[in-house]
Amino acid sequence: METIRCLILGSGPAGYTAAIYAARAGLSPVLYEGLQPGGQLTTTTEVENFPGYPEGVDGNQMMDDMRAQAQRFGAEMRSAIAVKADLSAAPYAVTFDDGSEVRCHTLVIATGATAKYLGLPDEEKYRGQGVSACATCDGFFYRKKNVAVVGGGDTACEEATYLAGLAAKVYLIVRKPFLRASKAMQQKVMENPKIEILFETNTVGLFGTDGVEGAHLVRRKGEPDETPFDIAIDGFFLAIGHHPNSELFTPWVKTDEAGYIITEGATPRTGVPGVFAAGDVADPLYRQAITAAASGCKAAIEAERYLTAHGL
Ligand code: NDP
Repeated sequence: METIRCLILGSGPAGYTAAIYAARAGLSPVLYEGLQPGGQLTTTTEVENFPGYPEGVDGNQMMDDMRAQAQRFGAEMRSAIAVKADLSAAPYAVTFDDGSEVRCHTLVIATGATAKYLGLPDEEKYRGQGVSACATCDGFFYRKKNVAVVGGGDTACEEATYLAGLAAKVYLIVRKPFLRASKAMQQKVMENPKIEILFETNTVGLFGTDGVEGAHLVRRKGEPDETPFDIAIDGFFLAIGHHPNSELFTPWVKTDEAGYIITEGATPRTGVPGVFAAGDVADPLYRQAITAAASGCKAAIEAERYLTAHGL
């Protein structure tokens, strides 16, 4: 069986940065791109806060650039999804959805995080027919139509603002009486005449015969004055946060209650020798492209030191 010196799972800023550093250090890294090549940044529009791009950069472009940079130094890219891992003894085994299996001396887990859904049966029923967790992927289909975005964080505000540029009207459905987003983002939403914020409102269902035609909402759910009402919408966008893609590794690595991998102090070490976690899968706090890239760098440096120390 193939044994890889440095196996990297995930192709967001953490995975690609680990690949750049590992390749330049001569570790012959192999990176599996996983479910969403390029990661979450491929579903965003302009990235304005990554240092080095004074005019901003398209998220897809930035990921293509990182990938090309890693390839330039010899990192090998493969396009399969890890479905099983065995970290009980080194070299560690990872199995992929195409049936292949590899072993590795060091592993960088950079599998990121995935969008959350409310858990309503109607979300499943209308998935791809009006329900989406990515405004920048699907917003185009709702030009001049009415849409709703669920959530009160930065993502929800960003998506609502983006959609307001395309749609006729955007409802922002917020369960609390306030937004959690940064002040700058809140202001953008408040000042946009196309966005109507529905505070203290929960979604209880969707309706429509041929795709989403509306949502059943409840204002002040559970209170004496709770009020059910409906809105007419063609698109329903979730922006209520993410969950870390750590399931494959939880038998061996420590995670917090939400599933984020807990690393040792400021290092990307997981506690399993030679196994490191980088990016959003291990970061409940910052979740930025730049912090993910930085942790990918640390993971590759750790991998290099581990391989050297063990004569691998
Ligand atoms: P957050 O966790 O910050 O916000 C999630 C939002 O969804 C909250 O308003 C939350 O409500 C709401 N929510 C969660 N579950 C439910 C539910 N079941 N029903 C209804 N509403 C729900 O996630 P984000 O994705 O917005 O942001 C994640 C991180 O990324 C943050 O640190 C953010 O600052 C950052 N970010 C930064 C950006 C930028 O700087 N340009 C852009 C996007 C994200 P409640 O408040 O009630 O918990």
